[in-house]
Amino acid sequence: MNETYGDVIDAVRAAIGRNSAALHEPIFLGNERLYVDECINSSFVSSAGKFVDRFEQDLANYTGASFAVATVNGTSALHLALLLAGVQPEDEVLVPALSFIATANAVSYRGAIPHFVDIEENSLGLDPRALRVFLEASTRQEEGLCLNSETGRVIRAVVPMHTFGHPCDVESIVDVAEEFNITVVEDAAESLGSFSAGKHTGTHGLLGTLSFNGNKIITTGGGGAILTNDAQLARKAKHLATTAKTHHKWEYSHDEIGFNYRMPNLNAALGCAQLEQLESFRSSKRTLFERYQSAFENFENMKIVQEPVNTSSNYWLQSLLLSEDLVGQRDELLSALNDAGLQSRPIWNLLPRQIPFRNSPCASIPVATQIERRVINLPSSAGLA
Ligand SMILES: *Cc1c(COP(=O)(O)O)cnc(C)c1O
Repeated sequence: MNETYGDVIDAVRAAIGRNSAALHEPIFLGNERLYVDECINSSFVSSAGKFVDRFEQDLANYTGASFAVATVNGTSALHLALLLAGVQPEDEVLVPALSFIATANAVSYRGAIPHFVDIEENSLGLDPRALRVFLEASTRQEEGLCLNSETGRVIRAVVPMHTFGHPCDVESIVDVAEEFNITVVEDAAESLGSFSAGKHTGTHGLLGTLSFNGNKIITTGGGGAILTNDAQLARKAKHLATTAKTHHKWEYSHDEIGFNYRMPNLNAALGCAQLEQLESFRSSKRTLFERYQSAFENFENMKIVQEPVNTSSNYWLQSLLLSEDLVGQRDELLSALNDAGLQSRPIWNLLPRQIPFRNSPCASIPVATQIERRVINLPSSAGLA
C-alpha cells in the first residue's frame, strides 16, 4: 500500500474532526423526553396508543408509502412481509449473498429457503444482471410460477437490500422479478431517508421493511415497520402483528395464528421524536460523507463508497472500499484504526458461509466474495458532522 496505516488514521481524524469516535451513536436532542413522558403519563405504554398511530402516519407521509405498520423490530417486519407476499414453507427466496443475517433469518422463520445471489460493486446491493443470469439459466416457468429447475421448488420472492443506505438498482430488479413472476420485498432496514429514482426505498416492491434498532439512522430502541401501498396487505399486517385478534369489546377471539409483533407505544413515542430529526441526521451524514471523500481523495488504493447515480443515499454508514490488492491488509488496517480509538469494522461475512446457511443454495457470487474482504465501515454518527 502506498499510504501507511498512519495516513489512513490521519484521514479519518481529519474527516471527523476528532481523535476518536464510536462507529455509530444515536442522538436524542429533540422531543424524545417530552413524548416518552407524555406516553408514560397516558398509561398507554404498550401496543395501543396515539404514538403508534402517529408514528405510522408520519412514516407513510415521509416515505410516500400509502401505509406503514410499526413492528417490534426490523426482522419481525421482514418475517411478516414475506408471509404477506405469499411465501410458503419450502419455497425459495432470493437474497443477496452479502447482507446482515436477519435478511436470511426472516426467510427461515417462514420455513422457506434463502437462495443467495451476487451483488454489484457499484451499490453493494443485489445485482439485477446476476439475478437475470441465474433466473435464465436455472429456472423454468410453470403455471405462472417460477420453479428452480434443479430442486423443483417455487422461487416466490426476492429481497433486495440497500446496503449502508445506498440504494441498489431496485428498478431493474423489479423489472426482472416481474418478468419471472417473482414478488419483490425490499429490506430497507438501513435506508430510511434513501431514494432511488426519486422514490423512497422500500416502496418499489409489493412490500418493504424498515428497522429502528439502536444503530440505525433513527431509533425507537428496537423497532421496525412494514411499508406497502396495498390497503388489504396493510390491514392484514396489523391483524397478524396483533395476534390475529378479531374486533370485539371483550372477547378473546383470534381467527388464525398471529404474532405479537406490534410496536409498543413507548417505542413509538421515541420514534415520533426521532423522525422529526431525520432530515437533520440525513444532512449531517451527507456532510460527513463529503468530508471523508475529500480526506481520502488522493489515496490510490482505497476510496469512500458513494451513492450510485440516480439515487440519494442517507449515508447511514460510511465505508472505505479497499482495492483488490489490499485485501490481505484489511485486518491489520482494522486493528490499527480500532487501536487508535476509531471504531471500525468489516462488512458482514458472506451469508452462504454463515453456519446456519452453509447448505442453502447459492448462485455464482464472484463479486460478493471479493467485496466481503474489501469493505471497512468507519465512524459514521450524525453527531460527527
Ligand atoms: C438492522 C437490519 C435488519 C434487522 O433489523 P432489526 O430491527 O435489528 O431486527 C434487517 N436487515 C438489515 C440489512 C439490517 O441492517
